Amino acid sequence: MIIIVFFLFHWYLSLFMQTFFLHRYGAHKMFHMNKFWEKVFYISLYIFQGSSFLTPRAYGIMHRKHHAFSDTINDPHSPHNHKSVFGMMWTTRKIYNNLVDRKDIEEERFTSDIPEWKLIDNLGENGLSRIGWGIIYITFYIIFATQWWMYLLLPVHFLMGAVHGAIVNWCGHKVGYTNFNNNDKSKNSLIIDFIMMGELFQNNHHKHSKNLNFSSKWYEIDPSYPIIKLFSFFRIIRFKPSII
Ligand SMILES: [Zn+2]
Ligand SMILES: [Zn+2]
Repeated sequence: MIIIVFFLFHWYLSLFMQTFFLHRYGAHKMFHMNKFWEKVFYISLYIFQGSSFLTPRAYGIMHRKHHAFSDTINDPHSPHNHKSVFGMMWTTRKIYNNLVDRKDIEEERFTSDIPEWKLIDNLGENGLSRIGWGIIYITFYIIFATQWWMYLLLPVHFLMGAVHGAIVNWCGHKVGYTNFNNNDKSKNSLIIDFIMMGELFQNNHHKHSKNLNFSSKWYEIDPSYPIIKLFSFFRIIRFKPSII
């Protein structure tokens, strides 16, 4: 029981940091926050993504390119350019690492106004940090696991950020229905997206990439939206005038 709770906590906290901080804030700038809160969430990103930490800069550039070149040959992670999800993950990882290492000069539209804290980026990308988080997950399982099969969940903890990315990038452009013709293959995979906290409304999101709410029909539910509205109520974030 404790293991399942731990798994769910890690899944949803890591996922929320991805959709709230990396995606909706870092890549799309859907709202403002002051430097204090930006640092709080940056540290939270490091803690909750742990061994699979992604830097906001590399994520943001890659994601902006995904929007600019959705499902074309220049899309960094279109499932339509790969035979298997593992091939897509491998290529995405290589592109991500090149961005972390700053191997190429990127256009300003892909790099501008993305939060950056080099101390946390270097810490999160450090191999010892990744291994350290892995040891923490293993230790937790050794103490609390009551069934052998629970250990099968450990690889998901190690690769949490990559697993989330693979589900969203693969299913979100391959499986589901469409509300809009975006000239790409983006899909809405679920009507109520409690598994990926709204990230599986790719078709809606590619149509209105500045909309904080990823659902667009009355029957669709994006669970991250009310949480982010609550952050605004408590003045943790501020909306730009155009999307109030
Ligand atoms: Zn997409
Ligand atoms: Zn996006």
